Amino acid sequence: MPKNSFFCQVLCQKKHNFYAGPSILSQYTLDKCVDAIRDFAGTGLSILEISHRSKEFQAVVDEAEALFKELLDIPEGYKVLFLGGGASTQFYMVPMNLLKTKAAYLDTGTWANKAIKEAKLIGDVEVVGSSKEDNYTYIPKGYKVPTDVDYFHITTNNTIYGTEIREDYDVPVRMVADMSSDIFSRPVDVSKYDLIYGGAQKNIAPAGVTFVIVKEDVLGQVDRVLPTMVNYKTHVDKGSMFNTPPVFPIYAALQTLKWYKELGGVKELQRIDEEKAAYLYDAIDSSKMFVGTVKPEDRSIMNVCFVMKPEYKELEKDFLDFAGTKGIVGIKGHRSVGGYRASLYNALPLESVKVLVDAMKEFEKNH
Ligand SMILES: *Cc1c(COP(=O)(O)O)cnc(C)c1O
Repeated sequence: MPKNSFFCQVLCQKKHNFYAGPSILSQYTLDKCVDAIRDFAGTGLSILEISHRSKEFQAVVDEAEALFKELLDIPEGYKVLFLGGGASTQFYMVPMNLLKTKAAYLDTGTWANKAIKEAKLIGDVEVVGSSKEDNYTYIPKGYKVPTDVDYFHITTNNTIYGTEIREDYDVPVRMVADMSSDIFSRPVDVSKYDLIYGGAQKNIAPAGVTFVIVKEDVLGQVDRVLPTMVNYKTHVDKGSMFNTPPVFPIYAALQTLKWYKELGGVKELQRIDEEKAAYLYDAIDSSKMFVGTVKPEDRSIMNVCFVMKPEYKELEKDFLDFAGTKGIVGIKGHRSVGGYRASLYNALPLESVKVLVDAMKEFEKNH
């Protein structure tokens, strides 16, 4: 890329991007997107102006679904959909399609709460566990999932509070999971879930596309009338092409999936992610100034939340400014936690985590 080009000004500057979402994309993904904006698949057209019905774009959707299945080892009988509307649309699409009488939900944070609120509009909801009383600093345990519910809904990674469920639960009912912010950070036993969904803007693509992994034989079992766009079957039957899908974000998603495969797949991504998280958590745990906000056993490896210890509270803003001088962006914590949140999504290199840790140490030494 010519050093003085517009895209280079946008893409070549060295920032360490810790934003929680939309978030960092790999250089591989960005380069492929830039190429396809100029000329997509030798068509002489930009990916931004191509028909979604063209054979070149159909090939993109087909390959993206195939790679999703390959990387996550998705069993037979599941479809991968690429839809609009964000994960938030899934908060009501899931109960509309799957909730006959009652569903169980685990309340682990802001997003879980929003999912619960929507499900309650549609049927009975039993919240089987909640850590709300302690500002969501841990994942509830020891609760019972009733056997008479249609599904049990979990949010595997709590992007705002920095807790994570890094296992596939064994429960007596089928599960639905919002994996918006930790998909592709570990192998998942997809067979334990009826449906997995997420916004792609955390670990896959720019904003605009939502992935849904759905077991086909759980569809078509509710009696309620479903508007066409709300019915998963519409999208399953038309291969995500019932209406115009988010063409460009799907293209970007495919590039990221290719990059994941080149890197060595989900097990390798897990190894890298856990190494990055351990590097930062170790620095927090050995600091006299910073302290983590959640129970160590429930810590997220994707979103690391930490604050200044009470005796240093007045330096909170100063550290943000100091980090900014090192090219570190996006570490201001969500308002419901305060302090800092460093999101360590797959595309963030270990090098950036090291820059952050060095900045923490330098700041600590200066004060
Ligand atoms: C970001 C996020 C959402 C919301 O996604 P939208 O695509 O903005 O609707 C939902 N759940 C989790 C866990 C998230 O991190």
